[in-house]
Amino acid sequence: MKNIAVIGAGTMGNGIAHTFAQFGFKVQLIDISQASLDKGIATITKNLDRMVTKERISEEDKQQTLNNITTFTSTKEGVATAGLVVEAATENVDLKLKIFRDLDALCPKNTILATNTSSISITQIAAVTSRPEMVIGMHFMNPVPIMKLVEIIRGYNTSDEVTNTIMELSKQLDKVPTEVNDYPGFVANRILMPMINESIETLYNGVAGVSEIDTVMKLGMAHPMGPLQLADFIGLDVCLSILNVMYEGFKNPKYAPCPLLVNMVNAGKLGVKSGEGFYDYSESRKAENVAKMFR
Ligand code: NAD
Repeated sequence: MKNIAVIGAGTMGNGIAHTFAQFGFKVQLIDISQASLDKGIATITKNLDRMVTKERISEEDKQQTLNNITTFTSTKEGVATAGLVVEAATENVDLKLKIFRDLDALCPKNTILATNTSSISITQIAAVTSRPEMVIGMHFMNPVPIMKLVEIIRGYNTSDEVTNTIMELSKQLDKVPTEVNDYPGFVANRILMPMINESIETLYNGVAGVSEIDTVMKLGMAHPMGPLQLADFIGLDVCLSILNVMYEGFKNPKYAPCPLLVNMVNAGKLGVKSGEGFYDYSESRKAENVAKMFR
């Protein structure tokens, strides 16, 4: 397992590529968009530069990590020698089903197919392949090079052997893999998203303002980041899509997204990535408000 293909060079894909490459794996980073690949490599370089400045790695380590990554716009070329594919493309069921159908046809028969999905059923994704026992959820947390947890999700048919291989591989990345079963939202988002949704509902009901809600949760519950800041960081569109998957998956109104969240997403207020969410991330305020998240 020396060759890892990563599909998607966005927020998560470039972090996953960075992490595997830093631990000596050869990474084929694949995206349909050359612009996303360029941006992904620029982000990895910037993050490695920060690690060099903090003396956590040497300049030589940085170069070696970058040398371990090759970029492709063709999935066929990128996955040809991969022992593992980690899919981190846009969170959309139809797109993921198409990608996994293609991967099944293009990858060698012994290649393990993993997805970084936040909420889509691993069992449903596995069912479009001819190797459901070799399909697994490998849910990294954002920012990937820093966060220790990898939620390992077993689909209905995922084999013990594949689960053990992915658990061991995650440990080689200095992560803490944690095995869970395949139900909507898995564990991380099943617990996190209702808390974020309730924070938005609290704002919507006029109980308190944005910074007051975040302050209560940061200082009162010792959370490193307020729930509304965290929603902005994850992306409000991503939060809405995960809540909808849980709402439809469990047919339970407790997961119904707050109307304010729906309105904000419809209005294009998606958080840090769009320049505005619960906080202002326009060019003049972005640095200040992103820094506040980590204080
Ligand atoms: P993103 O929008 O930042 O990046 C998605 C990338 O996928 C884009 O670069 C896009 O060009 C690429 N893409 C789309 N279709 C493709 C295809 N057919 N082949 C190759 N590349 C394709 O998204 P993201 O936030 O990085 O999320 C990726 C996955 O990770 C999603 O499943 C999401 O649920 C999950 N996830 C996200 C977070 C988070 O905090 N953002 C955390 C954990 C998991």
